[in-house]
Amino acid sequence: MSQDSHPNLFIVPTPIGNLQDITLRAIEVLKQADVILAEDTRTSGILLKHLNISRPLQSYHIFNEHKAVEKLVERMKGGEHFALISDAGTPAISDPGFLLVRAVIQAGLEVQCLPGPTAFVPALVNSGLPNDRFVFEGFLPHKKGRKTRIENLVEEVRTMIFYESTHRIQKTLVQLAEAFGEDRQACVSRELTKLHEENARGTLKELIEYYQTHPVKGEIVLVVAGKNPKA
Ligand code: SAM
Repeated sequence: MSQDSHPNLFIVPTPIGNLQDITLRAIEVLKQADVILAEDTRTSGILLKHLNISRPLQSYHIFNEHKAVEKLVERMKGGEHFALISDAGTPAISDPGFLLVRAVIQAGLEVQCLPGPTAFVPALVNSGLPNDRFVFEGFLPHKKGRKTRIENLVEEVRTMIFYESTHRIQKTLVQLAEAFGEDRQACVSRELTKLHEENARGTLKELIEYYQTHPVKGEIVLVVAGKNPKA
């Protein structure tokens, strides 16, 4: 058992578009951190300036994650308190963070993730698809292992959530229609919390047709219904 009175590491979600989505507690925690670890110090610098937060910033991204973890844990043992942020949303959710969280726990130190913005929750709820049980698939591999990942989901009865990019969404919709059947219900959530937010709902076939005539711009979450167990 462990106590969470003064965590050595806070995981702090930041807005996925609308800057008003930062929480009061996130601001407070960032203001009190000895060091803020950021995926991209330039991107986060803009947000922190907007929030009037001036704390030392250190870069923490997938390219230095493995190397950085050990040193950071040592510094935490020495008494420094850190806050980790990513470019948008909740760190460690399809973003750097997991390795650090695991190392902090293994070292017997305290980690606490604040609740806050993340793209998959509003996408799931907006989809109108069953959300009592769901599976987060994150990004599908671009090439190697992609087919197997999709094949392994053919019998999945829970609602599935995928992160996707604009230039691959059409290919993904087509491949999922081939695997799951083109009548499977789905929802493409685009630009969540931003000015041009769009939630396009329909069958995979309808969505494929829709995006043949509508250019896809911005960031995307794809939510797909699970297999109907009675079918
Ligand atoms: N850590 C983030 C989170 O908590 O959601 C995810 C980071 S991941 C590198 C970026 C992906 O999240 C995008 O490619 C997209 O699939 C999704 N995403 C992030 N912001 C979004 C938004 N405003 N609308 C739709 N999808 C978004």
